[in-house]
Amino acid sequence: MFGTIDRLPCLGTLLSDRTFEIFNPSTGELLAKLPDMGIEETRAAISKAHIAQPLWAALTARERSDILWRWHQLIVDHADDLAAILTAEMGKPLNEAKSEVSHAGAYLQWYAEEANRIYGETISAPSADRRMLVIKQPIGVVGTITPWNFPASMVARKISPALAAGCTIVLKPAEQTPLVAGAMFALAHQAGFPEGVVNLIYASDGDAVGRELCSNPKVRKISFTGSTEVGRLLMRQCSDQIKKLSLELGGNAPFIVFDDADIEAAVHGAIQAKFRNAGQTCVSANRFYVQAGVHDRFVEEFVEKVRQLSVGDGFDPAVAIGPLIDSHALAKIESHIDDAVAKGGSVRCGGNRIGKDGTFFQPTVLADISSEMAVAREETFGPLAPIIRFEDADQIVHEANDTIYGLAAYFYASNLKRVWLVAEALEYGMVGINTGRMSSEAAPFGGIKQSGIGREGSRHGLEDYLEMKYLCMGGI
Ligand code: NAD
Repeated sequence: MFGTIDRLPCLGTLLSDRTFEIFNPSTGELLAKLPDMGIEETRAAISKAHIAQPLWAALTARERSDILWRWHQLIVDHADDLAAILTAEMGKPLNEAKSEVSHAGAYLQWYAEEANRIYGETISAPSADRRMLVIKQPIGVVGTITPWNFPASMVARKISPALAAGCTIVLKPAEQTPLVAGAMFALAHQAGFPEGVVNLIYASDGDAVGRELCSNPKVRKISFTGSTEVGRLLMRQCSDQIKKLSLELGGNAPFIVFDDADIEAAVHGAIQAKFRNAGQTCVSANRFYVQAGVHDRFVEEFVEKVRQLSVGDGFDPAVAIGPLIDSHALAKIESHIDDAVAKGGSVRCGGNRIGKDGTFFQPTVLADISSEMAVAREETFGPLAPIIRFEDADQIVHEANDTIYGLAAYFYASNLKRVWLVAEALEYGMVGINTGRMSSEAAPFGGIKQSGIGREGSRHGLEDYLEMKYLCMGGI
C-alpha cells in the first residue's frame, strides 16, 4: 500500500525499546509499530536542532528556498502514496486525503518563495548623525506539535515558514496519525536538509515531549495546533521562560443564512463547511442560524443533500464520510444529540451509529435547536449539524459572537450593506462570505479569543518565526 515509501524513518535517537501501535480506524487493522520516544529522545533532538540552527540560518535565503522547493517536488511526486497513508491512518476519504496532500505541498511552495522575501526597514532618524534600522532574524529552534485531523497539511503549514525563516524544528505529530508525518520527513531528508534541521519525535503521549519542549531553554518558540485545553497547559508551561507561542486551537463556527441569501449556494456551502473530514475540522460549521423566511426551505434542501452522503471506508470511492477518530468522538456526538432532544430539539436525519464495531456515525441534522443547548455552545467535532431559527438579523450577530471561541464564521447574504456590516461585526479571525471553504496557503489562518494566538499561511505566517531587531548607529 505504501508504494515507494515503504520504510518509515525513525529520525530521532532512540534511547529505549518502547513501542506503540497505529491502527486503521476504518478496519481496526494494525498499520505500524513505532518507537515510543520520551524526554531523552526529545532532548537529543533539541540539541541537534540547536547545533544546526546557526548553520541553517547562515545559508542564503535562495539556498534555503531551493531545498524547500526540492521537498515540495518530492511531495508532489509521492502525492498518491502520502494520500494512501493518510487515509489508512486517519480514515478520511481518499479524495480528501489527496486534496490535503496537495494543500500541504502548496504551503511548501508558498514558503519556498517567501523565504526570498524577508525584509527589514529603515527609519528616518531624528538627528543627522544617526542611522536607524530594523532587521529580521530567525527565532531559533521551534518545537511543533500537530493534531490528528489534518496530519499532513498541519506539518507543512507549521514547519515550512519556520524553515524559510532560518529556524530549525523538532516536531511531534499526533499519536493517532504519525505515519504521514514520518513519510514527509523521509522525503525532507531526500530533499537535502542538513543534519539536525528537521527532527521528528514519535510518541504515544504528548505530555512528556510537550514538557521538555516547553522547559528546554534551547527551544525558543512553541507552535501548537490542537485543543484549547492543551493550548492553555502549554501556555502555562512556557510562562517560566516567557517562551513565544503560536496557538491554533478549537472553534465554534457559526454559519448564518439570511433571508436574502442564495439558498442553493448556502446548502452547498453548508455541506462543505460541515461535513468535510466528517466534521472533524477546527473551522467546521458548528451551529447553523437560519432566518425565518428561508428556514423551512433551507432545512428541507439541506436534509435531502445530507441523506445522500455515504459513510464508510475512505478507500471506497463512493464514500463521502469516513470514520470518526475514536469512541470518545462518538460519545460526544451522542451526548449532544441526547441533550438537544431532551430540551425540545428534533432529529431531521441520521442520529445513529453505523454498525456495532468501528466509529462510523450517520451524518445528522437537528432542527428546533436553541442557543442554550450543549450542541450550540460546545465544539462537537463530528458530522452533526444543529439548526437554529431566527427572526432578528441584528440580534443574530450578537448571538453568533457569544462564545469563548473566535476562529471561523460563515454567512450567506446578498445585500451589500449587510455583507459589509456583518463581516465587520463578527468577532472571528476568518469569515467566509457566501462560501463554505476558505483555507488557502496565501491567506492568514488563525483565530482570536480562546481560539489562539498568531497566524499561519501568507506573509504573516513567516513573521511568526522572525524576531525584530532594532539597530541604531550614532556618531556618523
Ligand atoms: P489535542 O490537543 O488532544 O492533541 C493535539 C496534539 O497535542 C497531539 O499531538 C497530542 O499528542 C498533543 N498533546 C496532547 N496532550 C499534550 C500535552 N499535555 N502536552 C503537549 N502536547 C500534548 O487535540 P486533538 O483532539 O488532537 O485535536 C482536536 C482539537 O484541535 C480540536 O479542538 C480542534 O478544533 C483543534 N484544531 C485546531 C486547528 C486550528 O488550526 N485552529 C486545527 C486542527 C485542530
